[in-house]
Amino acid sequence: MDESTPQTKQQTHVLCLRQFVPEDRFYQEFNNRVRSFKTLLCFGFGEHSKVLWDIWGHTYNNPRHDHAETIALRAVDDFLKQCQRDTNQKYVLTMYLSFSPCAKCCRSLAAFARSQTTVKVNVMVSRLYFPEDNETQKNLKDLVLLGVKLRVMGREDFKKCYYLFVNYCSSFEEWPELEQESEKLSDFLKAILNQVPKVFSSSLFYTILNGSIRLSLTPLHVGPSWTPQGRETPQKATSVTQDTTWVQGVKRKLFDEG
Ligand SMILES: [Zn+2]
Repeated sequence: MDESTPQTKQQTHVLCLRQFVPEDRFYQEFNNRVRSFKTLLCFGFGEHSKVLWDIWGHTYNNPRHDHAETIALRAVDDFLKQCQRDTNQKYVLTMYLSFSPCAKCCRSLAAFARSQTTVKVNVMVSRLYFPEDNETQKNLKDLVLLGVKLRVMGREDFKKCYYLFVNYCSSFEEWPELEQESEKLSDFLKAILNQVPKVFSSSLFYTILNGSIRLSLTPLHVGPSWTPQGRETPQKATSVTQDTTWVQGVKRKLFDEG
């Protein structure tokens, strides 16, 4: 992103605060077996001690402007600036990302983590974004060294994300080979983060980088920008929107269990 670019109307409406992700979008972007060209990010932010989130929502990459992480971090920053908070208050920021952060977004997340020391940041990703890139690997490692929790989503994470951000009235439908793909990507990320022995990581890199998986790992962060069309609530959302207090309460309770 160009950090000097002023926030425009186009950028603003990419952020969908307190709006559910359409079901088809969720499956299209989070399916770790399908190639995608966008990043979808779902996030929730609130005080550590409270059940309800202060803000939650989702956003997408806006290729010629901001990446999804930047848009969400800006929303959290704005919230923190506006609220009269006790400087010792602890917060939790949870992010579900369809792609792991690029090098630049890692640096944005790192800057956020450094400046907001009372915020615990949890990042869960469906796929890895250009994981063979040295700069990306270094920035992912730096992020974790700063205390940001980073992991690849497994079955239970997809279920939670669906429940929290798509539709709590219906069940998450697992796609074929979800868990196998997740395990492969998780091993790959652990290798990048030096969380597995080197001998294992080198063979894993070879397998993944020379196999077909590499194709599904690399999105294009260029091309026409995409912005949400029409209502951002799923078709079954009528009852959802009528009872947001309950939904928000459930959201945090579910995270607390995890
Ligand atoms: Zn990025």
